[in-house]
Amino acid sequence: MTYGSPALRRAVLLANQTIPKAGLAQLTWGNVSGIDREGGFYLIKPSGVAYDELTEDHLVPVDLETGKVLAGDLRPSVDSESHRAFYLAWPSIGGVTHTHSTNAVAFAQANRDIPVLGTTHADTFNGPVPVTRTLTPDECATDYELNTGRVIIETIGDDEAAAATPAALVANHGPFTWGATPQKSVENGIILEAVAEMALKTLALNPNASTPAHLQERHFKRKHGPGAYYGNPRP
Ligand SMILES: [Zn+2]
Repeated sequence: MTYGSPALRRAVLLANQTIPKAGLAQLTWGNVSGIDREGGFYLIKPSGVAYDELTEDHLVPVDLETGKVLAGDLRPSVDSESHRAFYLAWPSIGGVTHTHSTNAVAFAQANRDIPVLGTTHADTFNGPVPVTRTLTPDECATDYELNTGRVIIETIGDDEAAAATPAALVANHGPFTWGATPQKSVENGIILEAVAEMALKTLALNPNASTPAHLQERHFKRKHGPGAYYGNPRP
């Protein structure tokens, strides 16, 4: 049995292939998933398969409730349980991306939030991109990937908060991003990496840099919410 509509399978494959194209990860690092809410499962990259060999047939269907693989011989990405935690916590999301993109990882390893230093950040993230607390020895010893998801949910909050800031940094690890679709989640990963690089350079030039709250709000609201006016409808 094949899980997922042709559109979902295509979307998850393309979003995974975007990771190396956008320079967000090396080797087989990183993974994207996309969910079928009605079917109660998500499709995720298999563990350890090279991006240039990845096909739709490799995508692993995972049961949303149990975390069990529904078909095939391939193991899902080791981060599957983190993805599952997000889908269960945040009903409005449709895709999740994890990468080890360099500049976002630098903030994660420094245990620092990415502060809002300009409009590029404010266009997508409604406030600093937070870094989680460090996982405890117990959280690392048992259900590590599930606890990684949980610590992000603890940091971000509810579904509305997840939609407003679709990214977080796991302390000493790296970024997770999410969105309404798999492609949106990987786009948020690209934006996050660009914003992290800009922030590092800005802080090197001026460690006290900041952005006024009214400018942040203007930029976030022109792209999000009832008064949004950025872009054009697709033909
Ligand atoms: Zn990782």
